[in-house]
Amino acid sequence: MLWLSLLLTSVGVVALGRAVISATARTPSYLPVGRVARRLRRLLWLSLALKAGAGALMSVLGASLTPPFAALALLGGAGLTLLEFALMFRWLYPHERTQRGLQASLGDYLQGRLRLVWDALAPILAGGLGALTVSYTLSGQYRGWGGLGILTASAMGLSALLIGLGMMRRPTPLPIRWVPVETHLLNEAHRLGRELGVRVQEILVLDGTRLRRANAFALSGGRIAVTDYLLATLTEREVFAVLAHEVAHLAQRRRLVRLWLMQLGAGVGGAVALAPLWERLPRWGLLAWLGLLTLGMTLPLLRARQRHEREADAFAVSQYGKEPLASALRKIAALHQRGADEQGDAVHPSLQNRLRAIERLI
Ligand SMILES: [Zn+2]
Repeated sequence: MLWLSLLLTSVGVVALGRAVISATARTPSYLPVGRVARRLRRLLWLSLALKAGAGALMSVLGASLTPPFAALALLGGAGLTLLEFALMFRWLYPHERTQRGLQASLGDYLQGRLRLVWDALAPILAGGLGALTVSYTLSGQYRGWGGLGILTASAMGLSALLIGLGMMRRPTPLPIRWVPVETHLLNEAHRLGRELGVRVQEILVLDGTRLRRANAFALSGGRIAVTDYLLATLTEREVFAVLAHEVAHLAQRRRLVRLWLMQLGAGVGGAVALAPLWERLPRWGLLAWLGLLTLGMTLPLLRARQRHEREADAFAVSQYGKEPLASALRKIAALHQRGADEQGDAVHPSLQNRLRAIERLI
């Protein structure tokens, strides 16, 4: 039943995606591919929510799975999601090629796009597999399976650990181009870092030209990455403003990790304290509690990251004034075919709101 509902969800999601993609094929001027890609991202969240809903419904209805089978269902759901989006991006590729003059091969394009899907899936998989491993071992259920139980428990735990480690390392979102960064850029980054008490180790140049992506990222280990496409499009002062924004993110990372650890501690502590109640709770009560826990852990992080975006913009403005950052943001939005009123993602506000906030800065 669960597998059937997961499959049906996939079919529905792919059909929706197909409809959006054919709309851009018919009238590219009305619906440019950049906007289609963002609609597909929303579709990704819908796909995940529907699958989680199907799983929750099945477990309330009593078709409860033992942890190893629940882990399999989790992996199967993730695999289906990747397949759905591989198919949709396969259809989107020729349109993006013509509309945005993409040079990347289909393989590179799919890799770049699916990486973002994986970024959304990885925390769910790591958290889900981790929780299942804990419940499987602590409840002693694995003993009922003999040697196989120990084997499955270790396989589940190891997968959770590996996926978690992969997230921590935060690999660069695009292939690295091993070209040296201009010295004045690195010097400026070091100066900005000193200003905020954080050490900028290096600046990586990523290949954004083939996928037409003008972005900058704050990575782990004091590294900042900018795409060559961004460097080629922006003026020097605009690049500096973007750099300042990312250096601010480097400084915020430590605070973010501390907040995350605190919440993890509170979550685990709450779970342990309430452990005697679990047995007595009805299934839906357990699910509601899990839902609340997830919400309680994600919302404060989301709020913090939204605040960090505003602070990073404010730091850039404090260094170079309003104009370089504002014009950089306008150019980047235009390159990605993003409308002024369109929200970037859960963390980044729309261009128009962001410009308004910059305008209000003193
Ligand atoms: Zn940012």
